[in-house]
Order: sequence, then structure tokens, then C-alpha cells
Amino acid sequence: MAVNTRTPLIAGNWKMNLDHMQAVAFVQKLYWTLKEAGHDPQTVETAIFPPFTDLRTVQTLIDADKIPFALGAQDLSEHDSGAYTGEISGQFLAKLACGYVIIGHSERRQYHNETDEIVAGKVQAALRHGLSPVICVGETSEDLERFGASAVPVGQLEVALENVAADADIVVAYEPVWAIGSGQAATPDQAQEVCAKLREVVAAKLGEDAASRTRVLYGGSVKSSNIASFMREPDVDGALVGGASLLVDEFAAIIRYQKHVGV
Ligand code: PEP
Repeated sequence: MAVNTRTPLIAGNWKMNLDHMQAVAFVQKLYWTLKEAGHDPQTVETAIFPPFTDLRTVQTLIDADKIPFALGAQDLSEHDSGAYTGEISGQFLAKLACGYVIIGHSERRQYHNETDEIVAGKVQAALRHGLSPVICVGETSEDLERFGASAVPVGQLEVALENVAADADIVVAYEPVWAIGSGQAATPDQAQEVCAKLREVVAAKLGEDAASRTRVLYGGSVKSSNIASFMREPDVDGALVGGASLLVDEFAAIIRYQKHVGV
């Protein structure tokens, strides 16, 4: 496989937290915290995923103040327009300068019955509108016991990548469901093992070029104290961060993992 030229990506999934006013204060504080610490945004890409109702405000702020954060949404509709009350089209997200959209987060799969096929439809919708899907896959603790760590995420990713073009810009996030919000992160070895298998799926479906270019993230109880250990793994290209992305100093420290001792 080619040399790793992938820019690390630290992505903050705010979930249903922070209204648009709180979002402004948060983004400004995060920006200044990183700037004062001398963070070089070229070395690590930062992306934030606020609730839909914050997107316009945050987009205006990062545009006006030239804040070097990418913007993403937490979900989108499979459809482009029409009678789908409450749904949000990829068209609308593209107009708000969203670069990314999270698809298939375990909370959507669990509470909104999103199947692998729905996830695949959403991946297509994202790509139709020039958004990079952050495709979330991961096993529950029951899956882990029954099938081991990689079988379920590998199967989920295979379906999500059906009919995806070889040159598509995608991100994969391995998020073991048992590690999300539990405080019990996977070990770096566990994360590496599954992320490597997921990269093999990208290679099989989209080709070796895509596999060497695609960023594979780990997510699940990532903190400033464990991020560096994940980032040392060759197939972990970043993190999808939930709870810790809501704490300015903690999230800034995660983004600055390269400055941690021993990295
Ligand atoms: C998530 O929900 O994507 C997540 C990784 O959450 P946390 O970091 O809180 O475990």
C-alpha cells in the first residue's frame, strides 16, 4: 500500500447539544484556545458536527472570521426533496457549505431503525450533493461476543459502499457501540485491528488508491488522555469524538494530540 499521506481528522459530534447561541460561543472559544496554543490547522483537520439548527449560524461565523474548521451535519435524508416531513436534504447542507455528513451513527441505527440499506441510500444522497459521508460502523457488545469485533462493522461497510464510485471522497468511522459514551474505550490494538479490516473493505470495493486515501477514524470514549495512543496506530487516521467534543479545553487537547508527550 502507498505511503500514508492522509491528513488526520478530529471530528466533534455534538449530538443534540448546544443551541445556535451556545454554538457561537463554543466555536469562538475553541478557535482562540487552539490559536493561543500555536496549533497549526494544516497538520490536523478539525471538523464540527452541530445540530441542524446551528449550521447556518456556525457557517456564517467560520466564514466571517476565517476559522479553519470544517462543518458537517449529523444526518441527512436519502431523498433530495419532497414530502418527507422533518427530513433534511443534502442539497440544503451543501448550500450551507457543509463538507461532511455523519451517516449511520449507532444512535440513528438504534433509535431510528436505520438499516444498512437506509445507510447506503444516505451515502448515495451525500455523494450526489458533494458531501463526504462519515460512514459509522461498529458492533454491539452482544455482536462482539457472538461474532468477534470485525464481522459486523465489515458487513455494515460492505453494504454502505455498494455502488460507490472509486474516486468518491468518503470517511469511515469505526465506533464500537459498547465504547460510545461508556468511558470504556477500545484498546489501540483493537481499534487498529478493525480499522485495518475496514480499510481492506475499501480496497476490495473501491480499489487500492481509495483505500490508501480514505481516512478511517476510531470513535468511542476518546479523551485527551487516550487519543495519542490511537493515533500511533497505522490505520487510525483520526477520531470521531462525542462527549469530549463539548468541552473546549478537552477537545482542543484532543486536536493537539501531536504535542502530547511521547508522540
Ligand atoms: C459518538 O457518539 O460518536 C462517540 C464517539 O461518543 P463518545 O466520544 O462520547 O463515546
